Amino acid sequence: MTLPCPPVREMLNALVGIDTTSSGSNLAAVELVESWLESVPNIRMQRIYDSAKKKANLIAWAGPEVGPDRDGLIVSGHLDCVPVEAEGWTGDPFVVREHSDRLYGRGVCDMKGFDAIAVASFAQAASSVTRPLVLMMSFDEEVGSHGIAAIADQLDPSVLPREALIGEPTSGKIVALHKGHLRFTLSSTGKNAHTAFPQDGVNAIEPLAEAAVRLAELRRQFEQEGGPNADRFPEAPFLVLTVAIIEGGSAINVVPDDARLGFGVRLLPGTDPEAVEARIRSHLRPLLGDKLRLTRDAFSPPMPEHQGLKIRKALHDIGAPLDPHGAPFGTDGGMLFAKLGVQSLLWGPGDIQNAHMPDEWIQSHELETSASDLRSILGRLVF
Ligand SMILES: [Zn+2]
Repeated sequence: MTLPCPPVREMLNALVGIDTTSSGSNLAAVELVESWLESVPNIRMQRIYDSAKKKANLIAWAGPEVGPDRDGLIVSGHLDCVPVEAEGWTGDPFVVREHSDRLYGRGVCDMKGFDAIAVASFAQAASSVTRPLVLMMSFDEEVGSHGIAAIADQLDPSVLPREALIGEPTSGKIVALHKGHLRFTLSSTGKNAHTAFPQDGVNAIEPLAEAAVRLAELRRQFEQEGGPNADRFPEAPFLVLTVAIIEGGSAINVVPDDARLGFGVRLLPGTDPEAVEARIRSHLRPLLGDKLRLTRDAFSPPMPEHQGLKIRKALHDIGAPLDPHGAPFGTDGGMLFAKLGVQSLLWGPGDIQNAHMPDEWIQSHELETSASDLRSILGRLVF
């Protein structure tokens, strides 16, 4: 059988060669995938852009139209990757290097390796599927699944199957649920003055420091309390609050008039985000006002566990083990469910521990195994 698009390794090399750090454009990568799929017969492709038209999701449909039962399968991956750290890489992050069964490069593990497999499997399956098969390549997964939110704004859910396989690196295990992430900024306003004349200024940093102490109190309370599905997250069986960014001030002899603190809360599936926000506001209430404001920046919903998924049975049938634990990190799966009613499982090659760091790597043989596994899965679900 001739391949309609290049071999997986060739596609992986080309995808890694394009810097798709979430802060930049991903359009070159979208174009590349489109060029691979161009010659595949009987498919339909659509770009779903962000508001600036700087980034796009690419969605491709094969097989019959999605019916009212929303039967079929979405195979989903994100095209963006995390920034390349300034130091620590032992080679060019945007060139795939291979040493003793390991492939190194930014995104090989999270998740351009799976992206390449997904494109190949979709292309091979496209002309013979008897149920709807959708390939979904998203943008901005790493910064809050804004790509999926854009899809939800621009597409009717009825054109998408109800089940999705998201190929995040799970070392080939089935992961059925994950935490969410609620992000906030505290902005503090003061008044500039020469530090020799402190009576003329208002220090913007001091109230933020008090807020940081209060947030640390709340963090300890969360750790004591646990929450829904806590037993599925044995490493951190609670809501994880992290004060992650603090910045402000301009010079050592100037009373600072501006400072910001960024913090996030990783939510257990089943947690009410509104209740958590209310709790944070009440805990900070004595400090909040005109000069210290709390804003919610983003919310990546947790992914709850879905019962009776066909994709779960198919994965089980090919021998993929079920991870009894949830993923402590977020994926597009939370947003897909919250906004489009799509029920997902995570399953993909590579270990998340090897992602998001210098010399990110994945085992070459794991990629090959996953490629044939994905073909078997599609054979069971959409043929
Ligand atoms: Zn990822």
